[in-house]
Amino acid sequence: MAEYLRENQTEHYINAWLKAGNPQAAVQAAWLNDIDITPNDFPYIEGLLQRAFSVWSEENLPLFGLEEVSWYLIDHAGKILAEALDRPHAEREAASAAARQMLMLGEPGTIAGGDYSLAAAPVKTRQQGHVYAVMVSTADSDPVEAQLALTVQTAKHFGTCFYHELNHVFLSDLYNLRTQNEREAARWTALLQIVKRIHDKIDVSGVLNEVFESMSDIYPGAHLELLMTQDYQSSNLRVKPLHMNAATGEDKLCIRAYTENIMLSREKVSEKGARTLEIAVPLSGKQGVYGVFHFQIPGELGKDMDLQLVGMLADTAGNAFENAKLYEQSNLLIHELRLINELSRELSQSLQPSEVFEFATKELLEIFKADYCCISELTHEGDQFRIMSTNLETLDKEPFPVNYGICGLVHNTKEPLILSDYHTFKGVRSKIMDSTNSRSLIAAPVKLRGEVRGTILLTHREPHYFSYENYKLLQVLATHIGLAIANASLYEAVQHMANRDMLTGLYARHYLNSCVQKRLSTDSVGSLLVVDIDKFKQINDSYGHQVGDRILKQVCDIIKSSIRSDDIAARWGGEELAIYFPYMTAEDCLKVAERIRERVKAETDPKVTVSCGVGGWRSDQDRISVESLFFTADMALYRAKNGGRNRTEVGGFDGTSERLTP
Ligand code: GH3
Ligand code: MG
Ligand code: MG
Repeated sequence: MAEYLRENQTEHYINAWLKAGNPQAAVQAAWLNDIDITPNDFPYIEGLLQRAFSVWSEENLPLFGLEEVSWYLIDHAGKILAEALDRPHAEREAASAAARQMLMLGEPGTIAGGDYSLAAAPVKTRQQGHVYAVMVSTADSDPVEAQLALTVQTAKHFGTCFYHELNHVFLSDLYNLRTQNEREAARWTALLQIVKRIHDKIDVSGVLNEVFESMSDIYPGAHLELLMTQDYQSSNLRVKPLHMNAATGEDKLCIRAYTENIMLSREKVSEKGARTLEIAVPLSGKQGVYGVFHFQIPGELGKDMDLQLVGMLADTAGNAFENAKLYEQSNLLIHELRLINELSRELSQSLQPSEVFEFATKELLEIFKADYCCISELTHEGDQFRIMSTNLETLDKEPFPVNYGICGLVHNTKEPLILSDYHTFKGVRSKIMDSTNSRSLIAAPVKLRGEVRGTILLTHREPHYFSYENYKLLQVLATHIGLAIANASLYEAVQHMANRDMLTGLYARHYLNSCVQKRLSTDSVGSLLVVDIDKFKQINDSYGHQVGDRILKQVCDIIKSSIRSDDIAARWGGEELAIYFPYMTAEDCLKVAERIRERVKAETDPKVTVSCGVGGWRSDQDRISVESLFFTADMALYRAKNGGRNRTEVGGFDGTSERLTP
């Protein structure tokens, strides 16, 4: 051992031990290595010398038959450290004086002391020969020289015994240290493995299960539960809610551990005297405290409980729990974002409001796994809601007052709504809830520039069906649906504008052209009517352009009210108008043209007349095209003009033409 220490810079260690407040280790090392430390500086040496002396006197005195002689162990200052037997005061005084004399002389020696003779011999360190104690003997009769020789031998022998004792103590200290280190290392290894296992889990329940398992591995007899304060649902039976207003002692310990975020422990003794160690240690992370681990360790097991380890495990569990929670939350968020992204992308592809409503209904039912969905829109007047889309076919599609039911509530508050149970809801009544026997509902307003333009209602027959997250998500989705509806409406309005003539409200020429083009490829028969106001230049000249415009509008209104919804009336250019009649033969078209012509003549003010040209087509005719159809109608019109105006002519592909006069 000395070798070991020397190799490792004994003095350095001694100083370090002294500084660390461990003189025992320092002294042992110093003595083993013959480094000079005054024994006086270390009361510990005194005790060690005394112990060595008592071992020596018990084991060796009888062995060597030295009981007749009385022995004193005296330190370097003359203080008696130990004596073999209780001796008279005078003898002790004499022994002490003999020791001091020996210390002064530095040599073993004898002193005649009245009734007895004394011999003193130094006890020296092994290597450097420093005196650290004196062995003194008193005897009655023996020759003095013999006694001195015996004392010198005894001093040497005691020295050896002392070193033996020192080594023994030192070694057992080292052994203890090693055992302690090994235990510490094992504890750290276990902790490390547990920490790794816990951190390997990325889901909240996985983390908690791992913690429970690890704790049971380390302390098999311990009863452990986790009391959670948050709204945390777990399938683990050992996870329970922590009731903050609990009255029992156990719960109070846990509540304190939770509120102060510290580990607390106490010992409980039952009426029968059974002891239980109870520990409450918070499950907390960087963002807060989530719950409390509650240990109950019966009887003796509690003694081995390593509170520091438990604390470290709980810390690890807290951090891992928090990480797992954050991970779950971010996953949920990513899922929601992806959903929102996909939905808004899909929605933006729909260019018709009705398509948006249908699609949104279908998607919302799917996303929330709801039983029913109903999307309604505020009418232009803003006094009624109209149901735009729903999967509840029996629902009355008639508009309903703006203040009625859930829609009214959402409209008035401009806020989303969540009902966990309609049965206990004391507010408004709702047709959709009543007629479907629904108990859960989430609703959100569809807003445009801060104003409620519509509502979305989702219902389910089970109570408490929708979560708070559902409610928040619907709010977000409603914004996107609102935008998509606004976009589609805008697109519709733009399309309407682009396809219409502003003055007359009829379609524009290009729109008619493309419609006719389509019809020619899909239909089997159709006809085109061209209407031109007679002598319109004169009207303008006589009454002015504004009156001319009014008359033009009057003619257009007559046309609009004379045709079916599928017929397409357009302003062909100037005061020339064209109407395409799908599936109408030229013969029938002629009748409509005549009706229009008659009405114009009768209803316009100032009075004007129109000339009409009809062109019809059938799929069995060859080389039919938009141009040729228009040409036929135009040629018929030309004939009508030439024929005196205020009349209708029909053009045919076979070159025949029909003429109608008033
Ligand atoms: P007809 O067709 O009977 O042969 O004689 P018309 O005078 O109607 O024919 P013309 O083609 O010579 O003149 C068409 C006139 O229609 C010229 C123009 O002043 C007028 N006009 C065209 N578009 C408008 C319009 O939007 N508003 C007004 N007030 N007049 C228009
Ligand atoms: Mg004209
Ligand atoms: Mg004209």
